[in-house]
Amino acid sequence: MTAPDLPPLSWPRLEPGWVWLCGAGPGDPGLLTLHALNALRQADVVVYDALVDPTILTLAPEAEHIYAGKRGGKPSAKQRDISLQLVDLARGGRRVLRLKGGDPFVFGRGGEEAQTLVQHGIPIRIIPGISAGIGGLAYAGIPVTHRDVNQSVTFVTGHDQSGQTPGSLNWQAISDGSQVLVIYMGMKHAEVIASALLDAGRAADEPVAVVTSATTADQQVLETTLGALVADLAASTLEPPAIICVGRSVLMRQALDWQAMAMGEAPRNTDPLGRGRPAESA
Ligand code: SAH
Repeated sequence: MTAPDLPPLSWPRLEPGWVWLCGAGPGDPGLLTLHALNALRQADVVVYDALVDPTILTLAPEAEHIYAGKRGGKPSAKQRDISLQLVDLARGGRRVLRLKGGDPFVFGRGGEEAQTLVQHGIPIRIIPGISAGIGGLAYAGIPVTHRDVNQSVTFVTGHDQSGQTPGSLNWQAISDGSQVLVIYMGMKHAEVIASALLDAGRAADEPVAVVTSATTADQQVLETTLGALVADLAASTLEPPAIICVGRSVLMRQALDWQAMAMGEAPRNTDPLGRGRPAESA
């Protein structure tokens, strides 16, 4: 595949010695931004993570592709090594594109990489991307906010640098703080997370969705409840990467599962929140 043309606007130039940290979105190459495409067309080296869809790399056919191999729970290049490799490539006069899954500044250590580059005097540009916790849920027909459900949403990481459920998280405050929780990297610790939320007073019948490989051809969605999450996950064949969404916005999938509708299925329930027609104004 050759990279498609960009609209005739004035696009930034990726200069030798620069590093652009760019979000690749959750999977579907169509969710790349035009800035990402502009970067792919100019880079002479692309350093990419495990969750970047291989098709996206075909948009930079001339560039060298370097796999940085970061993936939770799997052997991976050390974060510091990746950051220093970016420094070396930039100092070697390359046009460096650091391509990360989703948005580079959402649970992706993009901030750390950017900081290391700045500390070494390397000029950078940040290109945001669509984060899995928003775009991935949208592909499952789940609006991350909905006026009848939530006025806030909390993004949570299910494990920290040590691979454990973050002990520093105050699950009581998280549970009290928003009606909808979007949990990244939570599958491995689903049991601990579910019981922490139940202990914090969330209802066992609260809707939960687990969306794996969101926006890709392998996307799967498990609809369950907080009380049944662990058993349903154990009974499933689901594999990470997964986004876990806790809250009543999950019910909207009964109306908005647009992928099923595109395959000819009728919506299961056009009023899953029991609110009648949505208000048209205000
Ligand atoms: N920067 C990324 C997140 C990196 S952390 C972003 O903004 O999306 C990696 C975690 O993101 C995974 O463990 C998983 O929880 C989530 N994730 C990334 N891509 C995903 C996808 N296509 N489907 C489901 N979850 C995904």
